[in-house]
Amino acid sequence: MLEPEVETRPWNEQLALDDEAFRAQLAYLRERSPFYRRKLAGAPDVGLADIAQLPVTDKHELKASATTENPFGSHLAADPAEIVRIYSTSGTTGTPSFIPLTAEDLDNWVTASARSYAASGVSAGERIVSTYNAGPFAAGAALAAFDRIGLCHIPLGTGNTDRLLRSIDLLAPEAVVMTPSYAAHLVERAADQGVDLRGSTVERVLVAGEPGGGEPAFRTKLEEGWGAKVTEAMGIGDIGVSLWGECEEQDGMHLGARGFVHAELIEPESGVALELDHGARGELVLTHLQHRAAPLLRFRTRDHVEVRTSACPCGRTGPRVRCIGRTDDMLIVRGVNLFPSAVREVVSGFVPEVSGHILVRPRSPGVKQDPPLPVSVELAPGTPAKDALADAICDRLRTVLVVQTHIDLVPWGSLRRSEYKSTLVEH
Ligand SMILES: [Zn+2]
Repeated sequence: MLEPEVETRPWNEQLALDDEAFRAQLAYLRERSPFYRRKLAGAPDVGLADIAQLPVTDKHELKASATTENPFGSHLAADPAEIVRIYSTSGTTGTPSFIPLTAEDLDNWVTASARSYAASGVSAGERIVSTYNAGPFAAGAALAAFDRIGLCHIPLGTGNTDRLLRSIDLLAPEAVVMTPSYAAHLVERAADQGVDLRGSTVERVLVAGEPGGGEPAFRTKLEEGWGAKVTEAMGIGDIGVSLWGECEEQDGMHLGARGFVHAELIEPESGVALELDHGARGELVLTHLQHRAAPLLRFRTRDHVEVRTSACPCGRTGPRVRCIGRTDDMLIVRGVNLFPSAVREVVSGFVPEVSGHILVRPRSPGVKQDPPLPVSVELAPGTPAKDALADAICDRLRTVLVVQTHIDLVPWGSLRRSEYKSTLVEH
């Protein structure tokens, strides 16, 4: 554990410290952030226990407040001279959103990331290969966490899978960090090329960047392919880069950013706050507690999570989360909320007859879909398409997810692979 005195602190003591920090942060927002001065006009001065009385913040509002004179948005609260780093978000259209950080903000990001990644069990002196082409993106700050932990960091990026496999062979790293999609892709490529990934030195595969790495069947597939333990981490650029990280117990991610960020859950359609009870599901809402450059209050992450509150044998305290999907990928099929990663998880239970790759193909635009929902399921190499298999997958999806699907079995290699994030829904 990187900071045992912090990470094992009783959660009620953490909340008391966080409450104090939050009150100071709220005063700072009222004083320094034009965006929040306007948004909080007339809102009560509350502590963390009553934070749900304050309005949520949506990404679109922040973006809408950006101007040519202030490209960050009106939530910029620090003197521009204090800004030491500016990341961009990987928005798909037009002008990027910028994320400014003061030196202290950046240091806190790295501290949180280091705790989150260290939870996986990687430790000083080991080698880690990273495959992020971080460039302008916040993921770059996560890479600094590896220095903080004391790892020997080998940045290899994506784009040349053969070189990556060769480098793993020659440099003998104990760990790799990548998206779960790429981890799955490498298992296939290694098999194609007769590379023995299971026999490599890699003992830990750290996955982040998209949901799925914590889903049992998908995780098992990765662990068998790599012969290594798979743990996941998660963050969101606007708040912090690797806020959460799973420990070796593999039962949800701990909040590495404890003390810097407060986590809440809301019911996404109504916005009603939910208790962080064991098994609760909802959208994660995050609040900065000691941020300076452009702090955010009750920011809607669009990440849907499930909460764990049982004691973790590793000794870290506080609620844990597992990401079950992104709001933007969610479909509603006859009243049932459905995440494509959940479909993949059920279908992965049919390995080795299927490859584990799926593509949900909604028949109409928008979130609401009439059943049956078409799903392409890719077969394993050399497996023929059989009606009995399609029927079995369809039955299992109906039982587990309460959704009526139409399964189209497609040949091995016909669904697109990704070196970064997978597309599970055809929009
Ligand atoms: Zn743990």
